[in-house]
Amino acid sequence: MSNNFDDINKDLDLTEEDTDFDKKHNSKKAKEDDDSEYEDICYLCRRPESVTGKMIELPSNINVCTDCMQKSFDMINKNGIPTIDLSSLTGGLSGINLSILEPKANQRIKKKKPKEQKDNEIKDKFDIKKIPAPHKIKGQLDKYVVGQESAKKAISVAVYNHYKRIMLPESEDIEIEKSNVLMIGPTGSGKTYLVKTLARLLDVPLAITDATSLTEAGYIGDDVESVISKLLAAADNDIERAEHGIIFIDEIDKIAKKRNTNSRDVSGESVQQALLKLLEGSEVEVPVGATSKNAMVPMTTVDTKNILFICGGAFSDLDRIIKERLTKKTTIGFNGDLKDKYDKDPNIVSHVTDDDLREFGMIPEFIGRLPIVCTFEGMTKDMLVRILTEPKNAIIRQYQRLLELDEVSLEFSEGALYAIAEKAMNKNTGARALRSIIEDFMLDIMYEIPKDDNIGKVIITKEYIEGKGIPIIQTRTIYGHVPMIEQN
Ligand code: ADP
Repeated sequence: MSNNFDDINKDLDLTEEDTDFDKKHNSKKAKEDDDSEYEDICYLCRRPESVTGKMIELPSNINVCTDCMQKSFDMINKNGIPTIDLSSLTGGLSGINLSILEPKANQRIKKKKPKEQKDNEIKDKFDIKKIPAPHKIKGQLDKYVVGQESAKKAISVAVYNHYKRIMLPESEDIEIEKSNVLMIGPTGSGKTYLVKTLARLLDVPLAITDATSLTEAGYIGDDVESVISKLLAAADNDIERAEHGIIFIDEIDKIAKKRNTNSRDVSGESVQQALLKLLEGSEVEVPVGATSKNAMVPMTTVDTKNILFICGGAFSDLDRIIKERLTKKTTIGFNGDLKDKYDKDPNIVSHVTDDDLREFGMIPEFIGRLPIVCTFEGMTKDMLVRILTEPKNAIIRQYQRLLELDEVSLEFSEGALYAIAEKAMNKNTGARALRSIIEDFMLDIMYEIPKDDNIGKVIITKEYIEGKGIPIIQTRTIYGHVPMIEQN
């Protein structure tokens, strides 16, 4: 972790292109770890090597402990099948067809370190001076996420405090509470994108799950512990790395208490109840390499104390609840405001309180464990245009880079950008609509351009986006001639 924080700090001081940020993102830390830090698990009895002793290696990454191997042979002998000579198996069992057994490569877990060694390592990793200050975290987020200033600010502070909290020794008198975050904002406003960017910047494992797939234990659906299993998988089964990761639970509004229901609310309130212990921090038994518990899956214990939970949702009816509360307040007394004062406020959700969330159907204990609430604004046309062009990996920049490889430059007129934004606004899915719109009309261009070597520049116009015209194609300047403008 310290290295990454160092890099972020350095990154901000230098105004270079951040190619090494992307490289960093791709490098999986756990992969570099020495193989010897992992231990094998017996394919049959699921006990780790530290318990069973040396295992027998079979093809397809399968390991079987000697006890299980012996039991299998004893069984074969008992059933009257000719005795198998164990000595013939020393060559790695290559002669026997074991392809019926599925490879279970991801069921290895990293050996746990003794507690003291773990504590010392955390102290080394999380040096207060090395954690990037909130403004630096926000500065990095700014390069990718357009607008949403208050959310970016809140999350930068939350993350800063979260890692400070991890760093404090357990003997401290003051215990800092976890700063889990609740994100409220319409679909396509960048909630998931912000969390993904953050996890990349900090180089911590991230698991994204959907609250709608969760149910109370024992019912069809995933148990809440499955979110920890996903994080463990994202951390390459390295428990210590997972214990400092981030879990993003999307669609959290879908587990609100169901109103007027007589049946048991197994996917609503019960899931909120079940999530409480994870959010707060506790030791949970989770399956390794699978999302559900069963006899064939090895289990391990993960402490969620230092995992940062971020929950996000659109809370689509919340604006009505807030509006009702605000109007009730303002129409009482002499200073009463006009009833429709809040009708036109596009960011009404920013006035949210815990009471509104309770009214929406979230249980008080659940809200209490998400102390940081940040709201995302709905997309405006200007924001969409900025999203098209400003972020480091903006869609338009990606296309420009692709065509650059064919030595063709690609330009969008301002009118074209606004026409794309207009189309996206009509789809009502926020910035998510942008990609599909662009992909639609870029298909022809990406197909036609490589055909003709003379093309040097393509200008996308408003008319082309609106289906009323064609793009402007310019040929290359040959022998110093002024480029010819063709309309074809
Ligand atoms: P949601 O709020 O529903 O989780 P997402 O984060 O999945 O929305 O947004 C969908 C896509 O839209 C992202 O992958 C990203 O490319 C783009 N996007 C959304 N909001 C922003 C933003 N504020 N800045 C840059 N890109 C954004």
